[in-house]
Amino acid sequence: MINVTKPYLPSKEEYTAYLDGIWERNWLTNYGPLVNELEEKLKKRLDVEYLQFLVNGTVPLQIAIKVLGITGEVITTPFSYVATTGAILWENCTPVFVDIEPKTFCIDADKIEAAITPQTSAILATHVYGFPCDVVKIEQIAKKHNLKVIYDGAHAFGVKINGKSIFQYGDISTCSFHATKLFHTVEGGAIICNNKELNDQIFLHKAFGHLGDDYKSIGINGKNSEFHAAMGLCNLPKVSGFIEQRKAIAETYRTELKNLEIEFPVIPSGLDYNYSYFPILFKSEEVLLKVKNHLAANEVNTRRYFYPSLNTLPYLEKRYACPVSEEVAVRVLCLPFYQQLTKEEILFICKLVTDAFK
Ligand SMILES: *Cc1c(COP(=O)(O)O)cnc(C)c1O
Repeated sequence: MINVTKPYLPSKEEYTAYLDGIWERNWLTNYGPLVNELEEKLKKRLDVEYLQFLVNGTVPLQIAIKVLGITGEVITTPFSYVATTGAILWENCTPVFVDIEPKTFCIDADKIEAAITPQTSAILATHVYGFPCDVVKIEQIAKKHNLKVIYDGAHAFGVKINGKSIFQYGDISTCSFHATKLFHTVEGGAIICNNKELNDQIFLHKAFGHLGDDYKSIGINGKNSEFHAAMGLCNLPKVSGFIEQRKAIAETYRTELKNLEIEFPVIPSGLDYNYSYFPILFKSEEVLLKVKNHLAANEVNTRRYFYPSLNTLPYLEKRYACPVSEEVAVRVLCLPFYQQLTKEEILFICKLVTDAFK
């Protein structure tokens, strides 16, 4: 069985070396030394000023909406994982979907202004597959209309735009360190900002809203543990190597599949890309299903990331038309993509895809 992703595991020895310290200290969670060490190393690696290591990549979205005081309408992308829309709804805000731009699959910044109403208070957009949103245009729009900007950077670990960390844009960025992501801590994630006051607010909100006996705000529990931090400390030094290996796998896929009627996303120029996913676009859903089913019959799992287009979720009150996103969502498939894939496995997958076309 070849899965769409395979979490990297360090050697047991590497991991247990950290466990020895945890047992000695008997300090399992609440800002332990491993959590602090991981946060410091992540700040350096990602080139950001403030970062907190949280339980996953979804709670940071909820906390971001809460601490920025966002209410009413939030302009968002229909092409993302459901957590992006889910966080908006969970915080009792209304998602307003703006269609995507067909090259990067990110929200189409040129269509944002038309969706702004007096109720709009923020933009929550995803750097989907690690491709950046038009951060410059979004910043201009946000300034002009006094909107907050949150980026769901769950896919964007380590991405840089013209040398600048993608996480330096927006009021708050989030990342996911889930087992299926490029860099993982089993479960985990981060919330990132570039302002001390906001970082302090986030700290309060992720820890029940109190400091000792001072109850300052509402809060939730978003803290992560020493055990998760230990996994992160094992994996972090290896991420640059993972990206190199994944780049090579992407090149093999592109070469082997180049004669088929398949579109590959173009990696924007000036981007330090992280090769977090390998999406391909078929001519039609029919072809996609044919390929997907043929691969599945041969024990190769692919994923329809991201389908359905989130503006079509059944539990939404209001319908928005997002023709580009809806059209991409039915034609896009993510192929197995992880650094441990062998050359034989990649060639086997490519042969199955090719055979399905015949
Ligand atoms: C994975 C993912 C999330 C959620 O992250 P978790 O760590 O699983 O909570 C949010 N947004 C996007 C775009 C994702 O891919």
